[in-house]
Amino acid sequence: MIFQQAHTWFHQLIFALTLLMTPMAMGQQENIKKPKLVVGIVVDQMRADYLYKYEDMYGEGGFKRLMRDGFNFKNAQYNYVVTETAPGHASIYSGTTPSTHGIIGNSWYDRKLRDLVINVGDSTATLVGSEIPNTNGLSPHHLLSNTLGDELRQGKNFKAKVISVSLKDRGAILPGGRAADAAYWHDWVSSPGYFVSSSYYMEDLPNWVKNFNKKGKSDAYLNTQWETLYPIEQYTQSAPDNNNYEPAIGGKSTPTFPYDFKSMRERYRQAGAEYQLIWVSPVGNSLLTEFAIEALKREKLGLDEYPDLLAISYSSTDVAGHTFGPQSVEIQDMYLRLDQNIEELLNTLDKQVGAGNYTLFLTADHAGMPNAQFSNDQKLPAGIAPIKTYQFALAKFLNNKYEQQNLLQQFNYEQVYLDQDLILKSGLDLSSVQRSAADFLLTQEGIVGALTAHEMLSENYEDGARQKVQNGFHPKRSGDIILTFLPGYVQNTAAGMTLDKLKGTTHGSGYNYDSHVPLLWMGAGIPSGSSVREVKVTDIAPSLAMILNLQLPSGSNGQPLQELFE
Ligand SMILES: [Zn+2]
Repeated sequence: MIFQQAHTWFHQLIFALTLLMTPMAMGQQENIKKPKLVVGIVVDQMRADYLYKYEDMYGEGGFKRLMRDGFNFKNAQYNYVVTETAPGHASIYSGTTPSTHGIIGNSWYDRKLRDLVINVGDSTATLVGSEIPNTNGLSPHHLLSNTLGDELRQGKNFKAKVISVSLKDRGAILPGGRAADAAYWHDWVSSPGYFVSSSYYMEDLPNWVKNFNKKGKSDAYLNTQWETLYPIEQYTQSAPDNNNYEPAIGGKSTPTFPYDFKSMRERYRQAGAEYQLIWVSPVGNSLLTEFAIEALKREKLGLDEYPDLLAISYSSTDVAGHTFGPQSVEIQDMYLRLDQNIEELLNTLDKQVGAGNYTLFLTADHAGMPNAQFSNDQKLPAGIAPIKTYQFALAKFLNNKYEQQNLLQQFNYEQVYLDQDLILKSGLDLSSVQRSAADFLLTQEGIVGALTAHEMLSENYEDGARQKVQNGFHPKRSGDIILTFLPGYVQNTAAGMTLDKLKGTTHGSGYNYDSHVPLLWMGAGIPSGSSVREVKVTDIAPSLAMILNLQLPSGSNGQPLQELFE
């Protein structure tokens, strides 16, 4: 009797618990709202501190809306070197590092071709929409692992659309992945500033792209003038407009506002780069925003039951960053204007797809260092890593030590390639030649790390600078020796370069000025909040795969961002 009572009581308890738990569990499921559209925004060369440095001057509907209504990962990091555009975009969308997706740099040396290859170069493809036919074939064929877009295409039986847009070819092609519907970029080489694509995706441009091109927007933008958005006295976060850290471009006598494109474009035209003037100024971001909004509308993204992906990569921020540097009024003004572009984009998404129906993230493909002379003037570490000097010294060292010419095949910045065939034929041991070359390079000023391919393949580095090198190492594409330079050092190939001649800035290292980027999320399924936990850009794609209930991209080894699911 007691047993039976206990038995019944136990069952009643379980039943009650089931009643209590089921609605809760169901409620939790409903809270993870599925987006109808994923929007990825990459801002080329955006440093994490730009979110806060210029915050007082941002409007309420752009960056500040993302920080206020969405989730802000304040310590988002690149976990490999080199921090360049092509590997950055590939890593964001594939959820893994160059060691797996294979895009180890913007270019790399191909031992079989005995030549440098460009990340999106593809001689079997032709440009589509260009005025000069069959030029500069481009595709994502060097990308070795799947992207989020590839999984979205497969997971929805190719009914989800993946469209990717940028000014830069690599900024459009790599985010789309291998199975994208289309990637479009801005061609300043062989067209009057048209958006073009590749025969890899299509035979002919869709009508909406042709019509957009026909409007001649690039040309119209080059008949305008770039002045600061607010009175220049208000740009107190930046160095004075006229300084020694910036070059005077387009025939100007000083590196100062205003920039009258009309009078500058002739000089750019003579250099065969008239439409690249768009890339160095905020009108490039405005042009891309217009094009992205046109893609959103004409491709009807986010309107049917299959979620789509729109990848947008802003390139002018990188070109202006290289030209003027982070201390410049030009960069501050560009971000204030980009803030307005993002507000316009968000408002359009709210209207077309509906606020809360799309999931958006914003990050960067890398950040950027301060101008080297500027750092030096502020007593901060800065220097030059003279690549040609290293190259001649190493060639001489190898000749003397092994009594063999031409053992050094290619010195491509931090990647040093030895002639492996010649080493084999000469009866030398590859790993010991690698190590002695590395030890020699470590004696050179500015070089603080020299790891060999043999070490990359035999060791497992679990953290720090050596892990970043290993994450960026691909056995088929990387060099025999991979170098690391002192913090603040700029790699340079020009003879006799001095700090004062280095205008603007660059990027590529594993140091925080290059690796620490913004990571903001907003929209369907995204809570509001912030975190200082160190997260990796390779966490973005697996997080989206979890939000969309997709298979993880093939090489993805990032961790879904737990904070987004709480
Ligand atoms: Zn760059």
